[in-house]
Amino acid sequence: MTQLKPLIAGNWKMNGLTASLSEIEALRAGIAEGGYGDAMDILICPPATLIAAMARLVEGSPIGVGAQDCHFKPSGAFTGDISAPMLADSGAKAVIVGHSERRAQHGERDRDVKAKAEAALAAGLQAIVCVGETAGERGMGLTLEVVGRQLQGSLPAGAGAANAVIAYEPVWAIGTGLTPTTADIAEVHRLIRERLGALLGAGVAEQIRILYGGSVKPENAAELLTIRGVNGALIGGASLLARDLLAIIAAQGTSAARAEGAPG
Ligand code: PEP
Repeated sequence: MTQLKPLIAGNWKMNGLTASLSEIEALRAGIAEGGYGDAMDILICPPATLIAAMARLVEGSPIGVGAQDCHFKPSGAFTGDISAPMLADSGAKAVIVGHSERRAQHGERDRDVKAKAEAALAAGLQAIVCVGETAGERGMGLTLEVVGRQLQGSLPAGAGAANAVIAYEPVWAIGTGLTPTTADIAEVHRLIRERLGALLGAGVAEQIRILYGGSVKPENAAELLTIRGVNGALIGGASLLARDLLAIIAAQGTSAARAEGAPG
């Protein structure tokens, strides 16, 4: 399999005011200083209120801006919601769909996630589709079954390497400081790749990036980002401060360089 360009994506969740944009200035400067821009794609998904300002701030840099959710309709009587074309119009290039917090707190089912992902694709956005098991499901040995089912149910029609990314995010690892073993992560990523192959064909599946997310920190990034089949990370808490995210980006940069130098 060819080496995929990794994606380091930050999810700010419901955090960040205008003053937080100073972190993006620091991030931009750190990425330029470290020369990381060619080695990976970098995306920050702030709250919708900051998308337009952040998009202006990152212009001409390797940083892209994404959103955290979208409605499945392009417009209409949906008070408080934001559509995919609106996100694109604000400067977003991508949108996270099916994050476990949306699934748990807003009752989003796989079919809702799929509809949102399809709306994203129709608006020219890349869809970052999240899947992952709860602690209870892992405890019952259902991880592969749950992740496989979520993937099949949430994957948008027309998904390909250019417009879709999968994020494996075990629910119990998000914001807890806990992570699966490297073997467990590798096993789930292998399953996701296999399922993508069955759904989209092996050629397409090989080119789709599969991120790991859940308590990725500067301290564990090097270990997590070098797991076979992991093509980057979706990062919550540690994406809020440029200092932490730069440390993770540096870890990704080092592992990418190592993989490039490796034989075969
Ligand atoms: C997330 O919310 O997508 C996430 C991975 O959070 P954290 O990195 O804080 O665990």
